[in-house]
Amino acid sequence: MHILIVEDEPRLAETLRELMLEQRYQADIVYDGADGIDYGITNQYDLIILDVMLPKIDGFQVARQLRLSHISTPILMLTARDEVSSKISGLDCGADDYMTKPFDSGELMARVRALTRRRGEVLSNIVSVGDLSLDCTSRTLTCGNRAVQLGFKEFDIMRLLMLSAPSVVTKESLITKVWGVESDAEDNNVEVYISFLRKKLTYLDSHVYVSTIRKVGYSLVHTQ
Ligand code: CA
Repeated sequence: MHILIVEDEPRLAETLRELMLEQRYQADIVYDGADGIDYGITNQYDLIILDVMLPKIDGFQVARQLRLSHISTPILMLTARDEVSSKISGLDCGADDYMTKPFDSGELMARVRALTRRRGEVLSNIVSVGDLSLDCTSRTLTCGNRAVQLGFKEFDIMRLLMLSAPSVVTKESLITKVWGVESDAEDNNVEVYISFLRKKLTYLDSHVYVSTIRKVGYSLVHTQ
């Protein structure tokens, strides 16, 4: 778990980091709003703890800017201000939760766990590329209002292609990851499953198709 702390009071920032470390969460600290935006956009965090009163750019603006940049990382706002109005603007600008200082560390950690759990479920269950989404729990591939369930091998292959898209996945890497290093599966085993997947994509009427890169492997490509 990787957390960004945006807090200009060094002692409080350090206390927060220690609380996170006790839960084995790794935390980065930045001390102003500009760095908050910069770090939030360029790194993948599981949660951002964001103070409101910050040098350069305030916490509300930081949250708004991150959401405008399509960063969906959960944001927990932390502030000395306890008026109802600042709570509303905090949630309005894209924060997911809100706590006022001084905070109780037990309550803070409970909220951190709740926010990161929600995130984890979303991340692990659904993979999307173009108009396709793959539910990794039910192995269901959906496009618009059509859905098909994939077999185990089809699912493993599709998931790898989707996670790598638009990059090419080599046949070798598919064999190793789907059939295992020790298996005697061959290129034509892969080809058979790719043809199953292509039929399913045709049935789904998806704009995404499996492109063959001769003698190398496959990649997922969009048509318009
Ligand atoms: Ca502050």
